Amino acid sequence: MTLMKLLVTGGAGFIGSNFILYWLKKYPNDKIVNLDKLTYAGNLENLRVIEKNPNYVFVQDDICNSQSVNTLINNYKIDTIVHFAAESHVDRSILDPAPFIKTNIEGTYVLLEAALKNKVKRFHHISTDEVFGALELNSKNKFNDHSPYNPHSPYSASKASSDHLVRAYATTYNLPTTISNCSNNFGPYQFPEKLIPLTITNLIEGKKVPVYGDGLYVRDWLYVEDHCRAIDLVLQKGKIGETYLIGGLTEDITNIDIIKKILKIMDKDESQIEYVKDRPGHDRRYAIDWSRINKELGWKPKHNFDEYLKITIDWYISNRKWWERIKKTVKY
Ligand code: NAD
Repeated sequence: MTLMKLLVTGGAGFIGSNFILYWLKKYPNDKIVNLDKLTYAGNLENLRVIEKNPNYVFVQDDICNSQSVNTLINNYKIDTIVHFAAESHVDRSILDPAPFIKTNIEGTYVLLEAALKNKVKRFHHISTDEVFGALELNSKNKFNDHSPYNPHSPYSASKASSDHLVRAYATTYNLPTTISNCSNNFGPYQFPEKLIPLTITNLIEGKKVPVYGDGLYVRDWLYVEDHCRAIDLVLQKGKIGETYLIGGLTEDITNIDIIKKILKIMDKDESQIEYVKDRPGHDRRYAIDWSRINKELGWKPKHNFDEYLKITIDWYISNRKWWERIKKTVKY
């Protein structure tokens, strides 16, 4: 197999760092350049084990910096871009949409231009199921690759814009692109502002667990390593120009049910739950039909949700230093 030279953007974030660790373990002779601005969400501690690997380079910069992006692609003879970098937290986008517009839209545009100019062989764009809007609670409908775009938050609107830009570069300029829209990820190294790590770490600290509104919000949940395997398959076998939907579940689980599962595994009771004011425009339900990537590329989750939840809880128990530092120093 030919060796690959990848530019991974946002590789110090949750999914990006899991992806780099996964990739260098599986393809130790490939080269990875990790371009990350190190916002509040970027954390080089996630990558300690490979920081001295000669096939790995970290560059701290902004994907909106066209000169730097072009120089990197050119100097390292990059053939594949895997684009994770984004502002990714819906609540933050409600408080201040500006960095979302800048990084998620303009940053993607800068990368697309650079990919075109430097004749990159593949541009893979990581996106979200939130671009499709919301589904009714208790309906059986699922998002599929024909679902119309209907984003509701500044975050999902900015991600939708970036998806449209990627498709426009594919159709207009024949840039070899692929896109994946995935559901909520969870697993090691997830920033403790998100539901699952927040719940686990609050319980370890003996704190209450906040639940938005009535807690009857349904999300699809994808274990981060399964997501990395899916991106791997799309890069190796995916069809140029295609969009792949990636999800982890086959049945609905509400946020409150997830919290109850975590309480049970951690041997805590429901008095730990604290209902808080709902998020404005909170989407009720996302569900994702991932049958196409299953049929075409043979992908499916390796384990079920409950098993992955236990693995994740164990990881946060064993890696207390990692999240305690974040909780002490980052405001969220
Ligand atoms: P994250 O917030 O943990 O990490 C984002 C990374 O991007 C950080 O390391 C940050 O420093 C970097 N970054 C931000 N702005 C940058 C800029 N201008 N230039 C360079 N680097 C910059 O995000 P994540 O959860 O790992 O998500 C990765 C991607 O997956 C995003 O595109 C997100 O939209 C998408 N996604 C995430 C989820 C999820 O559940 N986490 C679900 C669906 C899609």
